[in-house]
Amino acid sequence: MSMTTRFIDGRETGLALGKILCVGRNYAEHAKELDNPVPSAPLLFIKPATSAVELETPIAAQFDHGEVHFETELALLVGERLSRVSGEQALAGIVGGGLALDLTLRDVQSALKEKGHPWERAKGFDGACPLSRFVPVPAGIDWRALGFRLDIDGKRQQTGDTGDMLFDIPALLEEMTRTFTLEPGDVVLTGTPSGVGALPRNAELSLALSLGLEAVTQTR
Ligand code: ZN
Repeated sequence: MSMTTRFIDGRETGLALGKILCVGRNYAEHAKELDNPVPSAPLLFIKPATSAVELETPIAAQFDHGEVHFETELALLVGERLSRVSGEQALAGIVGGGLALDLTLRDVQSALKEKGHPWERAKGFDGACPLSRFVPVPAGIDWRALGFRLDIDGKRQQTGDTGDMLFDIPALLEEMTRTFTLEPGDVVLTGTPSGVGALPRNAELSLALSLGLEAVTQTR
């Protein structure tokens, strides 16, 4: 059974979590820090619903497979079926905003990339997507002016500003729905800003999104 998605007041959204559609290298500074070229079209990949866990659950990632990198990302909860729609139409189908960690087995991913193999083992494993509760989308929201951050043990690690995205949210959703139908309960991860790094063990992670979301979790 897939995870139940909830609003920040604990209410169920009524949407069972589906697939998690993600974009790589959507912030120039992050592409640069990993020596990746800035893409001319969004680099898309999918994490399965089984990779998701509630953000507040202590993270027991696969620490025996090399470095586990954290990538803090704005997460969008899809409320209606979206297929080949414009960016504006797609935005109307987003019912919640939250945060996710796109956990990545970086050493595994580097080895797979070298061989030209798919990334699923590095990004789609069980527990690879700690996911917060969702804030209902406020009327008149400016998707280009959202801020978010990650602190680890009280030290700022990542700050994100959706105004810095290479492909903004409407453009991203339009491009995604050309290839992948988004269904109610699917989640879109919008890419990580710079500052990614190896997740330390026995640490406290504190995340915040300017929609009024704060969440705390631990690593084991
Ligand atoms: Zn990512």
